Amino acid sequence: MSLSDLHDELQCLTNMEAPTGFEEPVLRYVQNALAGVCERVEVDVRGNVYGYQPGSDPNAPRVMITAHADEIGFLVTCLLPGGFLRFTKLGGPTDMVLPGQRVRVLGSTGPLEGVIGVKPGHILSPEAARQVPAVRDMYIDIGADSPEQATAWGVEAGTPVVFVGELTATRNTHRMFGKSVDNRAGVAAVLWAARRLSQQVLPAARAFVIVVEEEVGLRGAEVATKHVQPDVVLAIDTVPSGGTPDLRADDLPWDIGLGPLLKVRESKGLSTHGPLRRLIRSVAEKNKIPLQLIVDTAGITDATSAQQAGGQVAAAVLGLARRYSHSAVEMFDLTDLQAIIDLTCLTTAAITSKSQLMRI
Ligand SMILES: [Zn+2]
Repeated sequence: MSLSDLHDELQCLTNMEAPTGFEEPVLRYVQNALAGVCERVEVDVRGNVYGYQPGSDPNAPRVMITAHADEIGFLVTCLLPGGFLRFTKLGGPTDMVLPGQRVRVLGSTGPLEGVIGVKPGHILSPEAARQVPAVRDMYIDIGADSPEQATAWGVEAGTPVVFVGELTATRNTHRMFGKSVDNRAGVAAVLWAARRLSQQVLPAARAFVIVVEEEVGLRGAEVATKHVQPDVVLAIDTVPSGGTPDLRADDLPWDIGLGPLLKVRESKGLSTHGPLRRLIRSVAEKNKIPLQLIVDTAGITDATSAQQAGGQVAAAVLGLARRYSHSAVEMFDLTDLQAIIDLTCLTTAAITSKSQLMRI
């Protein structure tokens, strides 16, 4: 896998429009990709996609490597006079980035370009110009003349909406930004790990699982963990990064381009399983993969829901630092993602016995 292979697949995945509850384009893609490198692929009624590779030792731990398919977005709640669309959030887009933002409305007759309206600055007092309106007062303008026309274009209550924006490389070509980096980067990592591990005979059986509905409460991962009943869960997801001038150095003391993030703890959730964390650190050290050890006081991932899903699960998060979290321009470094894939594969290969996972 070269950086350009990884970039090309990520471009394809971030171009997909698949907010929470509408993940089908990503699910179909991963079902197809996993079928080529797994012994068996299945899909559950919730939409989670599973690809299985056997291990050589039936007593070795079962490893689930997972990422969520969905992206943040919006749902149309009603049509307004003049053909404007009222909406609510799907997951947690940041309110302050919304006015003036380009969006795509996924109408039943095909995608519609739109913009979240914003009052002319000319008529606002300086104080009002600094205020972010409440989301319930915001609206999307798709250029329709009337609610009837918007309806004829296939827009109704429940129509999903996503941010717009190509994956865009900077002059540092491994640094790029775009929409839905959270978590198509994780999806790409799971697929590349599956491809690479399909070439290897390892003690541990693997389940590569792309789950749904993370952004609205870590839902798919809970269902998937109960189904797979793994001993180990490695969840790959993006994590808000520091390193920008608008943050204090100790706000999010890690940055893009400095390697994968290994969470010791996340906000509402787990202390990443101690023995698993130590194993990941030793694998990283041995293979000279840079690692940023972090305590995440703001974010939460599927590793927490996997750990709480029941069963005896040792879970850890391998995080991709990305700036401008939950906006349309999440920036990250592709070399970090490549290192996450390396670390995921090497860690999976190093998991050989359940005794490695015991705390005492
Ligand atoms: Zn995520």
